[in-house]
Formats: sequence, C-alpha cells, structure tokens
Amino acid sequence: MALGEFELIDRFFRRPARQAVVGVGDDCAVVAPTPGMQWCVTTDLLVEGRHFLPTVAPERLGHKALAVNLSDLAACGAEPRAFTLALAMPRADEAFLEGFARGLLALADAHGIELVGGDTTAGPLVISITAFGEVPAGRALLRGGARAGDDLWVSGTLGDARAALEAFRGNARISAEAFDAARCAMERPQPRVALGIALRGLATSAIDLSDGLLGDLGHVLRASGVGACVELAALPRSRWLGELPPALQRICLLQGGDDYELLFTAPAARAAAVQAAAQGAGVAVARIGRIEPGAALRVVDADGRAVEVAASGFDHFRT
Ligand code: ADP
Ligand code: MG
Repeated sequence: MALGEFELIDRFFRRPARQAVVGVGDDCAVVAPTPGMQWCVTTDLLVEGRHFLPTVAPERLGHKALAVNLSDLAACGAEPRAFTLALAMPRADEAFLEGFARGLLALADAHGIELVGGDTTAGPLVISITAFGEVPAGRALLRGGARAGDDLWVSGTLGDARAALEAFRGNARISAEAFDAARCAMERPQPRVALGIALRGLATSAIDLSDGLLGDLGHVLRASGVGACVELAALPRSRWLGELPPALQRICLLQGGDDYELLFTAPAARAAAVQAAAQGAGVAVARIGRIEPGAALRVVDADGRAVEVAASGFDHFRT
C-alpha cells in the first residue's frame, strides 16, 4: 500500500525534539528564543525545472533546499536555530523521500538547525523551507550599510554553478573533472554560516549571492546609496573555469547565479581582521573592489580600463 501523509512525515521527517520545546507533530512548533537575541527569518521556494533539474539526486536536492536558506541566514550573520519544510510532490516515492531527508537532515545536523514542522501535500514537486536564526539584538548584517571607501569582498569562488548549468545545456564543453566540480558546486552549495557569524561587527553590509554578482551587488548599492568599482581580474575562480571561452567565463563570474557565496563590505582599515575572521571560519575570501561615492557600478580590467557589462541579475519574471 502507498505510504500515507502522516506515515511519511513520521518516517522521514519526525525526530525527537532537541532544542525546540515542541517539534514535529503538534499544531505548532514551540521554540524558546535566546534572551537578548533577535530572530532572522527567511523563506526560499524551489520549483522543479526552474530551480533544479529533474536529474538531481534526491540527497543533493535535500541538501540544496536547506543550503539556500542557510545562506540567507549566513548573509545576516545569524546562527541557525530552526526550520520548517513545506513539500508538494506527485507521489510518496520512498526512495526519493529517503534520499531527500538524508541530504536535508545531514546538512541540518552539521549546522545545528532543527526541523520543527512543515506541511506535506500532493502536487508538482515544490519545496519551500522557512529558516529561523538568531543574532544578538541590533547586530544583523544588512544590505544598507556599505560606505564609500569600504573594501568589497567575496568568499569562495564565483561562477562554478553557472558553468555547470551551461555544460548541462550543451553550451559549454568542459573536462569530466571540471564538470564534476562544477556540478557539485551547483547541487551541493556550502552555506557560509561560520563566516557570516565571524563578520558580525566587522562587515558594514552583506548579501548572499544567489542571482549573480552584479545583480546582487546592485541590491547592496541601492540599499546603501553608494556605487562600486569591481576588478574583473580579482574575482576568485576555480582553475578549470579557464577551460571556458573568455566571454562565457565573464558571464559565469559576473552574472553567474547560484553561487551562495557571501558578498560583503568592510572598512579598508579592517582588511586584516576580515582575513582573520575568514581564516577562523575556514573559508577563503578575496578583495574584489571598492565602494565608491555616487551610484555607478563599474567593472574594470587589470589595467583599470572599463569593461562593458549588463548589470542586471537573474529575474524570474524577466527571463
Ligand atoms: P495541521 O493540519 O495541523 O497543519 P499537518 O497535519 O499538516 O498539521 O501536519 C502534522 C504535523 O506534521 C505538524 O506538526 C506539521 O508541522 C508536521 N509536518 C507536516 N509536514 C512536514 C514536513 N514535510 N516536515 C516536517 N514536519 C512536517
Ligand atoms: Mg497542515
């Protein structure tokens, strides 16, 4: 007999409550806030065919569904606490659910965040997670704090996930080794939670990169009322990205999407402290430019010459 709604919740998603006062199984979860902390709350929706390919392994899908939410918490400098999972799927496929739950809960355990509830229904494959994190009152990292003269930083490498997508679509030919690495970046992003926490009180603004560097940087610039100069040659990239044609490399780096790295600003005088914070968090960071007065977003090459780029990020209703 097919697995029922409550059976599948019990089997795959219900575990004894840990930090939560009440977890999965009642009408609401009950979670006690830590005194002196504020909640940071974020929701992401993943739709098959739009946010992920039908070929993705269920375990990686479970990982990614939570990872994109943890990345938003990271961007705010929040410590992950609890999340809910809303799941629509065509049928209760045990192999799918087993893999999905394994990937999801492994990442949850790695970050000490607890699944406290959700909703499950039949329908097209859609996954929505809402995650709750905490920051000390008033210390959340936001988009609006960048100031002229600040350094512009980014974690990890840029463009890997976009390179994988282009390879999947047949627009790029890359070696098998490069494809494996790119695919892993696309399907198993590593949210920079420890880095976000380490940047509290140090970064003046932060955002996580989901829609491409230039588009997401644009959000920071508008929120902060400043401009920026980005040095193309300084953008951190995987060595194998060089296998792509130069024009495509540039698109991956600047308009990539799905990077889930942190883009942040900090006073130039705090550069050593930023490096120390990143080292403590076990993540590489690179200084990729500078915040400027005005409102313009410029990209320059190694000689300081302007590089022509389309500065828009990914937009679901415009593509
Ligand atoms: P209600 O009808 O009261 O909203 P449901 O019958 O939808 O509750 O769900 C029963 C319990 O299972 C609730 O505690 C809910 O939070 C939890 N739950 C449902 N779906 C999921 C899921 N995918 N993951 C985790 N918990 C879930
Ligand atoms: Mg319900």
